[in-house]
Amino acid sequence: MLTDVVALNSWNLPVGLPADISSMIMKVDLSSLSQCITWDGVGSPISKTFSKSFYSNLDDIGWAKFIWHKGSALRYASYTWMAMHRKLKIADLLILKGIPVSSSCSFCVSNWESHSHLYFECDFTFRTLTALLPSLGIFYLRPNLHQVYDFLSNIRHFSSFDSHFCYLTISVIVYWIWRERNGRKFSSLRKNQSEMMAVIIQAIRAKVIKWKHYDTLKVNFKEILD
Ligand SMILES: [Zn+2]
Repeated sequence: MLTDVVALNSWNLPVGLPADISSMIMKVDLSSLSQCITWDGVGSPISKTFSKSFYSNLDDIGWAKFIWHKGSALRYASYTWMAMHRKLKIADLLILKGIPVSSSCSFCVSNWESHSHLYFECDFTFRTLTALLPSLGIFYLRPNLHQVYDFLSNIRHFSSFDSHFCYLTISVIVYWIWRERNGRKFSSLRKNQSEMMAVIIQAIRAKVIKWKHYDTLKVNFKEILD
């Protein structure tokens, strides 16, 4: 706390502070400042105020809340963050960089592999998505990741727990599609749709089983939790 090191408008530094640091701090003449030291105009600063100020130079990314939320898991969120930024090492990007790789989708084989194809133009990945979250079957054309999150965030009867559950589910799907894609590309490992869904469901359940409103979620998301 600032009050621990300032008294009567002058420095009151701890005795054990290294001399070079004390010397640097003492160069700031508090008596030349205004009578009241405040944090950006806020009399009672809290961590949130500090964070907001510290990161104020960074762009505000509106969709970040879909990835980094109370129920997020680092492993799944990280890959989804990369997918949203189109930074996964998918065939179209590698070919663009001159790296020779197979350009076809590992799931349907009949299309070029790209971020938008994998998430979720591809028949295989879209079927997986809608089997787990049937409300997404409403799309006439195949949605991309942004459209999926946007749709889920606008479902009015969803509580914040429902929304977080859906956001987590999407990130788990993104991660396991990526894992399955790599398994198919670089080894003989290959799961069919049911097997992949089972893995995804198991991963989601492991994460949410201790959530406060698990029983309510079980009612709303039978395809995953029942
Ligand atoms: Zn495909």
